[in-house]
Amino acid sequence: MTDTAMHLTTDEIELWAQGLLPAARAMHLADCSLCLTEAERERNVILELVHLLKFAPKAGFADRVMAQVRIPTPSGDWTDGR
Ligand SMILES: [Zn+2]
Repeated sequence: MTDTAMHLTTDEIELWAQGLLPAARAMHLADCSLCLTEAERERNVILELVHLLKFAPKAGFADRVMAQVRIPTPSGDWTDGR
């Protein structure tokens, strides 16, 4: 039995989704719709995570900015400035 004949493990699917799976194992996906379906699902999960991670720091940054904005100004002179 060759490497390409074996179904991918969960670990291997994770590697594939990250583009790290060796080509010899990735070739199995061309022949096996079962593993391909699993792999695409895993990739979608990872893409979702990447998407969330990209936006999470920005949301935190916005919160910090808003906290700064809410600090009261020492005098009322600034209210006419905008
Ligand atoms: Zn398979």
